[in-house]
Amino acid sequence: VVRTISRKEHGIARQQISAGALKVTTTLQQAGYSAFVVGGAIRDLLLGLEPKDFDVATNATPEEVRVLFRRARIIGKRFRIVHVPYGSEIVEVSTFRANCAVDHQPGIAAQHHADQHGRLLHDNIFGSQEEDVMRRDFTINALFYNPTTEEILDYLEGYEDIKAKRLRIIGEPVQRYREDPVRMLRAVRLAAKLDVQLDDSTATPIGDLAPLLQNVPSARLFDEMLKLLMSGHALACVVDLRMRGLHHGLLPMLDVILEQPLGERFIMLALKNTDERVQQDKPVSPGFLFAALLWHEVLADWNKRQAEGEKPIPALHLAMTGILTLQRQRLAIPRRLDSIIYDIWSLQPRFLARVGRKPYRLLEHPRFRAAYDFLLLRCESGEVDMTIGQWWRTFQYADTATRDAMLQQDA
Ligand code: ATP
Ligand code: MG
Repeated sequence: VVRTISRKEHGIARQQISAGALKVTTTLQQAGYSAFVVGGAIRDLLLGLEPKDFDVATNATPEEVRVLFRRARIIGKRFRIVHVPYGSEIVEVSTFRANCAVDHQPGIAAQHHADQHGRLLHDNIFGSQEEDVMRRDFTINALFYNPTTEEILDYLEGYEDIKAKRLRIIGEPVQRYREDPVRMLRAVRLAAKLDVQLDDSTATPIGDLAPLLQNVPSARLFDEMLKLLMSGHALACVVDLRMRGLHHGLLPMLDVILEQPLGERFIMLALKNTDERVQQDKPVSPGFLFAALLWHEVLADWNKRQAEGEKPIPALHLAMTGILTLQRQRLAIPRRLDSIIYDIWSLQPRFLARVGRKPYRLLEHPRFRAAYDFLLLRCESGEVDMTIGQWWRTFQYADTATRDAMLQQDA
């Protein structure tokens, strides 16, 4: 049964919907299709948050959507959706889909769509609006808003869950996590970001099912991890991931690092720093973030190699490539981040050489700023002597005479 919630009750006016999403839904409706604003945007509006983007769901197929909008493009090979540009906005339009694990294609058994752990291998097939509700992840993500009538359609009491600040997975929890283990990460991220609590039946299976994250393709895991780390609530998310035992498969040895006081302090400071930047709308560099998350692993390996007789700089480079390669087996950190990650790490020893022309050359390095911010985190966490960070803080803004004096003192 579907409940229709009027504007008078829920309070969302069509003016709160982005111009692009409004245009797309009305155009589709005028062409005879049904179309709704769905998912995160409606949830965020009801919670008084500013939506990141507005997604549209419709019964029109991707081809039918495309012919209605001059600049529309069908994207994705597997999961075909339509991107409709509108000014600087891009509206994502997806066709109603059904969960393909639910057996409604005669002759094709549901298990053919899944691996031995129950993870869905195929994309969902087109379906009805009711089916589109059921294939979504959480009840609060399954509200359909019609901008024309300003009504919300609620099939699963998602509206009550929003009011109760409750995150509840749709359907049978164990099966839904098995189908897509990333939903466990989404639960953690959404709970922190939206300040809602996991419902008992949603939270309980996570402990046992955490190892299923091992079977998720590493590219998908990276995307979801990045969303989590850039959510503005990374610190709370990582604390929660740890509490639920979900961190093991994500960053190998992260659990080990977090057990060491210095490593833990460093990661917590890095995440807190990131959260503050996101909340102040400042840019955050994913390269910096991953450099930080992996630093203490690099340090441990670097020390080990030096103890085995390797010279410091070659040992550092071996440690850097070794750790990044190891990490990639689980989390597909994109190659384009390599150069920033390597620069941040390999510049660290150069902060210790405070003689002659060396500090001047370091100042001119294009990645000086990122490496210096990284150094400050190391100082703050207690790994590196504070006076080194202070020296660089003074040196970079000082005039030539002061700089010369500083170099003499240290020489
Ligand atoms: P935000 O964009 O704020 O991170 P969101 O809920 O909009 O949150 P998206 O990744 O944009 O997240 O997904 C849009 C919608 O698609 C969700 O609201 C949900 O209904 C559905 N969805 C996303 N991921 C999954 C999943 N793994 N399983 C089932 N449904 C999903
Ligand atoms: Mg979204």
